[in-house]
Amino acid sequence: MFLEDASVLWNTHVQSDYYRLGLRCHARYRHAIPGQFVSLHLPGQKSPLLRRPFSIHRLVETDGAVQGIEILYKVVGEFTQTLAGVGTDDVISLFGPLGNGFSIPVDVRRLYLAAGGVGVAPMMFLIRQLKKNNREITRCSLFLGGRTREEVIGESDFSALGVSVHVTTDDGSYGDQCLLTTPLEAAVQNDPPDLLIACGPKGMLACVAGIAERYQVKCQMSLETMMACGMGVCLGCAVAPSEIGSPYFHACIDGPVFDSQTIVL
Ligand SMILES: Cc1cc2nc3c(=O)[nH]c(=O)nc-3n(C[C@H](O)[C@H](O)[C@H](O)COP(=O)(O)OP(=O)(O)OC[C@H]3O[C@@H](n4cnc5c(N)ncnc54)[C@H](O)[C@@H]3O)c2cc1C
Repeated sequence: MFLEDASVLWNTHVQSDYYRLGLRCHARYRHAIPGQFVSLHLPGQKSPLLRRPFSIHRLVETDGAVQGIEILYKVVGEFTQTLAGVGTDDVISLFGPLGNGFSIPVDVRRLYLAAGGVGVAPMMFLIRQLKKNNREITRCSLFLGGRTREEVIGESDFSALGVSVHVTTDDGSYGDQCLLTTPLEAAVQNDPPDLLIACGPKGMLACVAGIAERYQVKCQMSLETMMACGMGVCLGCAVAPSEIGSPYFHACIDGPVFDSQTIVL
């Protein structure tokens, strides 16, 4: 992990409250693993005091050399509101890559991804990395859910990468009007994947974990647990283990990616 001052390459409004932030960073990020995150701080900003964690959405490469990373973020509070006002060439304190990342066993051919809202952020890096490594994924489906049409992010980008995308919205303004776990469960039942990957709100993750358990499918999930230090010092991001008597995990160093069977949501 590295602490550096990263200049802003772009900070572009996508739609609704969503933005893409490009940050120039050290080429050592070529070793970053999908699912890992970075923690950001805006120099000179006293509030909020604590750094904020964001998944790596994708690596920014020129002729195969890593020049930067891109973050996909949603404005929800003080930090992200200020972040939305940052301009090109401004400098942000960047700490990362942090956490463990997804681990896709070599025999995985059929992959289902479940992403709720901004939970889609780490999925792009994962798909691009699998393609880059010429992994033989014969079926890759993304179940992409949002509250409204404006909360459905990146559908065309995933389709362009050959991913079959199933969109759901809570209000029916786009795709099927249901929770993404409805088509996900039907797909898992009819045509089970080798691995299920999920990121999104806690309630969605609990439901996905239940589907994985019912149909005996391996499942890794990235938790967007609130955290402070991001490096295992403050112990603020405790995650309950499923094994009674085992010590608590900490999302920043043991995660944010967990096997769904090992934790209690
Ligand atoms: C490992 C990890 C990866 C993340 N990746 C991304 C990402 O790629 N893109 C992105 O937009 N966000 C991501 N987040 C969430 C992001 O860190 C928070 O949205 C951010 O800290 C909000 O800061 P804020 O000061 O703007 O809002 P705050 O003022 O801190 O919070 C505003 C509101 O949002 C709620 N909130 C804040 N953080 C979270 C959270 N993690 N889970 C649920 N509710 C929360 C607060 O309770 C409050 O109600 C990630 C979090 C983690 C732990």
